[in-house]
Amino acid sequence: MNLLPETDVRIDSALVETAPGIEEWKKNVCLSIADGIITRIDWDSRPNEPTKSIAGIAIPAMVNGHSHAFQRGFAGMSEYRTESRDSFWTWRDLMYKFVSDLTPEDVYIIARQLYLEMVQAGYSWVGEFHYLHNSPSGKAYANSTEMADAVLRAAADAGIGISLLPVLYQRSGFETNETNHGQRRFTLSLDNYFNLIDKCKKKIIGNPNAKLGVAFHSLRAVSHEAMNETLNYRQTHLANSNIHIHAAEQRIEVEDCFTATGKRPIQFLLDSFPIDNSWCLIHATHMDSEEITRLSNSGAVAGLCPTTEANLGDGLFPASQFLSSGGRISIGSDSHCSINLREELRWLEYGQRLIGGQRAVLGTPRQSTGRLLYSECALGGGQAIGVQTGKLAVGYRADLLIVSPDHPTISNATNDRILDRLIFLNAGCPIQSRMLGGRWIETEKLAEQLHCSKIAFNQLNQKFFH
Ligand SMILES: [Zn+2]
Repeated sequence: MNLLPETDVRIDSALVETAPGIEEWKKNVCLSIADGIITRIDWDSRPNEPTKSIAGIAIPAMVNGHSHAFQRGFAGMSEYRTESRDSFWTWRDLMYKFVSDLTPEDVYIIARQLYLEMVQAGYSWVGEFHYLHNSPSGKAYANSTEMADAVLRAAADAGIGISLLPVLYQRSGFETNETNHGQRRFTLSLDNYFNLIDKCKKKIIGNPNAKLGVAFHSLRAVSHEAMNETLNYRQTHLANSNIHIHAAEQRIEVEDCFTATGKRPIQFLLDSFPIDNSWCLIHATHMDSEEITRLSNSGAVAGLCPTTEANLGDGLFPASQFLSSGGRISIGSDSHCSINLREELRWLEYGQRLIGGQRAVLGTPRQSTGRLLYSECALGGGQAIGVQTGKLAVGYRADLLIVSPDHPTISNATNDRILDRLIFLNAGCPIQSRMLGGRWIETEKLAEQLHCSKIAFNQLNQKFFH
């Protein structure tokens, strides 16, 4: 492990934890940081000779809780209507075609570009829901972690933290044990899946910027028995790790689950497994009121991907009811049609406004919509990926963004209105610098990395789309 020297940073103002569970805007904030973790927070004080003094506003960086890195390669390339009614399922066919020839080096190039874009956008950590395991023929690579290595290397090179979530994928639907040709690169036997987890565990050991969890592609792609076996395996070999699953993204999926099991997907999950705060249910889009109450009481995170859910025509998550029941949420860029946390948060609220014909749906008279969205998703994101991040608090990772108060998007707004302007006004991005795990990301170096990465990424696009 690379130990970082202790450092103090003084910032003009910041959103910091002032008492357990209470975050407030404070001026003249001094953060003491050791080994990437915040060890002390002072405010209204001017410490002696701080290492660095920052003119700006510090807010926590955001977690990107759900990503399929390779999909960045064809994002925005599926916008012709291919059938009388285009859908998630026609998009999926195109995605299968795109993925059929990708090499590990291609995946590295795509993931590096994506992860650099995430760092630039203000993301600190990514939950990589990784299901591209096999070679183009559908056979395992001689080195079974070939593809996992590519995304881990890309994350390290981009400087973003990663929770690698190798995915179990077994079948093409509830009523079959077969997969179709397009899924040949995703499927693993249970033994091979456990082997993959074991090998990945050895690769990330001692790395403060990487975690490992388990993931099930979906209820349609994994049997009840295999899920139980995996959870038993996790208990012994990967205790306290996170568990992710695509839950209820498409209406047809809800109907198929009901036909096969007599239950809706989230009802089935809650009835069949000990769903708790280690779980993250991605696209908990389709829930009835009983599922909303039960899922919010379980402590699990609902992993939302508003721009992807809009792009794929999934439907709208019942955010207002879920949050008022005490539910926890996070955001992710999923298919990467937008690598912009501000847009994810904005559309999470705008979907509720459009469907309900009202404004400021997720805000309260005491807490603005932007503040509530930002804090909920930052903290829920940390929970979903198993890392203490998402607020500026003692014991948490020093993952922070510095926002310029005089940028036209912020225009000297104060307190919660800083986050409202960040999310609901787009006159350019006001993030001036970033610290991830106690390290400053040099803005010029990031621009140079993006420039170099773009060259390889554009060549790859030439190969696939011309
Ligand atoms: Zn997904």
